[in-house]
Amino acid sequence: MARVRAISEADPDSVRSDGPAPNSWLSEIAPYVGGAGRLNGAERVLKLSANENPMGPSPRATDAYRRAGDSLGAYPDGSASALRGAIASVHGIDPDRIVCGAGSDELIALLCQAYLAPGDEAVHSEFGFAMYRISTLAAGGRPVVAPETALTADVDALLAAVTPRTRLMFLANPNNPTGSYLPESEIRRLIAALPSRVLLVLDGAYAEYMREPDFIDGLKLVEDTDRLVCTRTFSKIHGLAALRLGWCYAPSRVVDTLNRVRGPFNVSAPAIAAGEAAIRDVDYAEACAIQNEVWREWLANELRRAGIETPRSWGNFLLPFFGQSGPTSASAADAFLRANGVIVRRMDSYGLPGHLRITVGASSDNVAVARALSEFMSEAELGKSLPGGASARP
Ligand code: PMP
Repeated sequence: MARVRAISEADPDSVRSDGPAPNSWLSEIAPYVGGAGRLNGAERVLKLSANENPMGPSPRATDAYRRAGDSLGAYPDGSASALRGAIASVHGIDPDRIVCGAGSDELIALLCQAYLAPGDEAVHSEFGFAMYRISTLAAGGRPVVAPETALTADVDALLAAVTPRTRLMFLANPNNPTGSYLPESEIRRLIAALPSRVLLVLDGAYAEYMREPDFIDGLKLVEDTDRLVCTRTFSKIHGLAALRLGWCYAPSRVVDTLNRVRGPFNVSAPAIAAGEAAIRDVDYAEACAIQNEVWREWLANELRRAGIETPRSWGNFLLPFFGQSGPTSASAADAFLRANGVIVRRMDSYGLPGHLRITVGASSDNVAVARALSEFMSEAELGKSLPGGASARP
């Protein structure tokens, strides 16, 4: 008690202030808002807002997770060696260059923490994944945005954004939320032209969905350069978003650095066990990729038939364009879907307010969202043709 009095006497402000101030640059961060999963008053909703796998994880992963539940008293293996071994054998890569994390989000944050000093720059493309900006700002770095062309990252623009302060560059391939990708030739051109002080983080969160022959996931390229890190996730094709599990493949020096800054037990034992079973179940992942491709193309065609401009996507989602105003705007479509119990993702925070991002769901989900949007478009058309543009609804 005497000591407390002594502090407040020495510094009268200390009792009245809001406590110690956080780093000043953190106030620039707009917190990440994930895909909503609830609607007021609705008992059952269709959640197509977070690019989750509608098939969920492999049953083998669920079994492994349950078994891990029998030994929750023990710390996990801090080096996640069984999981790294499984990833390495499935992908034909070196386990010693793998670092696992609590989601690839954590690895993105650790890379920023490790490679950005306050004022250093991290480049990302215009519609790049939101966490690149947030993690850059959190580390005191400056996000630098490279414009895209036709909703696709542009290698020349990315290179033009590099300055002497650039330390990191983030590129998701394919990208969320645009669904577009860059071919191998462009990825190679980018790596070759980057100055050696810049680390390219090639984010392959959706790489397993890709089947194009000119696509490269970059893992093999890591072995030939000191400038490339590939990040991957278990949240998409492996259906383990709840467990928070990701990994990266990196040059030895980067691995050494990440192992210094990460928490000693950053990946939980159930996540390690489920991840190992999931990555080894190659047939299940393949079935998920096929399910996604078939239904993504079906849904894209249905949306186009309903008169909604829908760019091609290579992810597990679509980014249809509705426009910003009028009866068929993105906000009107979103309101209509919500009224029908369907949640998709608004894209205003990405600077794409005329678009909605719709995750490819299970077959019945896709049928339901296609039906709802076709109804929405017909009602809007009918509304426009009525005298005074009145709504067709009574
Ligand atoms: N990168 C991209 C491009 C993503 O879309 C996501 C998830 N939305 C992530 C990384 C993060 O994935 P997680 O942290 O679940 O591994």
